[in-house]
Amino acid sequence: MAKVLLVLYPDPIDGYPPRYARDRIPVLDAYPNGQTLPTPEGLDFVPGALVGSVSGELGLRRYLEEAGHTLVVTSDKEGADSEFERELPDADVVISQPFWPAYLTPERLAKAPNLKLAVTAGIGSDHVDLATAIEKNITVAEVTYSNSIGVAEHTVMQVLALVRDFIPQHRIVTEGGWNIADAVQRSYDLEGMDVGVLAAGRIGRAVIERLAPFGVRLHYTDRHRLPEEVEKQHGLTFHPDVRDLVREIDVLTVHAPLTAETEGLIDDELLSTMRRGSYIVNPARGAIADRDAIVRALESGQLAGYAGDVWFPQPAQADHPWRAMPHNAMTPHTSGSSLNGQARYAAGTREILEDFFAERPIRPEYLIVDGGGYAGTGAHSYAKS
Ligand code: NAD
Repeated sequence: MAKVLLVLYPDPIDGYPPRYARDRIPVLDAYPNGQTLPTPEGLDFVPGALVGSVSGELGLRRYLEEAGHTLVVTSDKEGADSEFERELPDADVVISQPFWPAYLTPERLAKAPNLKLAVTAGIGSDHVDLATAIEKNITVAEVTYSNSIGVAEHTVMQVLALVRDFIPQHRIVTEGGWNIADAVQRSYDLEGMDVGVLAAGRIGRAVIERLAPFGVRLHYTDRHRLPEEVEKQHGLTFHPDVRDLVREIDVLTVHAPLTAETEGLIDDELLSTMRRGSYIVNPARGAIADRDAIVRALESGQLAGYAGDVWFPQPAQADHPWRAMPHNAMTPHTSGSSLNGQARYAAGTREILEDFFAERPIRPEYLIVDGGGYAGTGAHSYAKS
């Protein structure tokens, strides 16, 4: 029987919601590319409930305990004295979320000789040292597509919030003011701008589809070029690399995984080649941007705004400079954890566990690392190009 160690973000400060804002969430038939939604054999929670924090347990306890497994759930994940590190040495399975990542560094993986499976309840498995997982033949799986559309929606919201300068305008209202000149001096229309998408995978492509009706000129780069008919449909200009892309755009949105190739990619030098007054929205990973270079670019006016919901490390410290830098529309890492997203990544996590314990193959689209190498989505999106 296995020990499953589940790391989730803490419960709401004032306790679990006694009731929700809405009575139901929409039921979807499939994802936009035809991929089926998670198909676990059972589900022990009502979709739309808060299952992503500690007490929600992703709805996994009954299923795991009835099958004779042990489940340990914690949000205490930092440092050698954390519950996570204390429980890790005999864990067979670790489940963690990008929103509240239990970093599986080489040192921690060395302390977990039993570990066979690391599941990301969400998308993006960079919190696991993938090279070590490959070396130790640990399977890494994530719930591909579970929250991609939510992230694309959040991206569009933050693009509009920055370009139209929504946040200061809202503040004027809540503070009882009405000075229109103050409110509009940094406010522009998105229409007619050049928007560039870095990585047109599931999220990037959904951003392209959602922004096309705004009358923008769309550009993108990806190491896998989109089909010609998709480029034609949205009038997309393909750029061979990010350097070529950023020179010709007003707004950059970032949707690549965090890898050795993308870490620190948005640095002083790249920023200096952008049009003055550009905007960046990065809901991919905080470490793709050089933290201090972003602050400098906002302070100098090279960037007119920066938004996203990903930071490094997470949770971000109280004095992280992105909290206070000018013209930011940052959120904590929430875009992929709406109640809809939670229902799908919890169900997908259960599907992965059911397959793992029954020794059935895990769907290739969920696999990042398997059998001592990149596999499935990992081979497409993470392996070195
Ligand atoms: P995906 O696998 O569908 O797409 C990733 C794309 O990135 C692929 O098309 C791949 O070819 C491209 N790519 C990889 N390396 C590249 C490089 N160096 N240059 C250019 N393109 C490159 O993944 P997705 O579902 O679209 O998610 C993308 C990323 O977004 C995830 O890896 C994760 O880090 C992040 N994410 C964030 C949240 C959130 O809540 N903020 C939620 C989901 C995913």
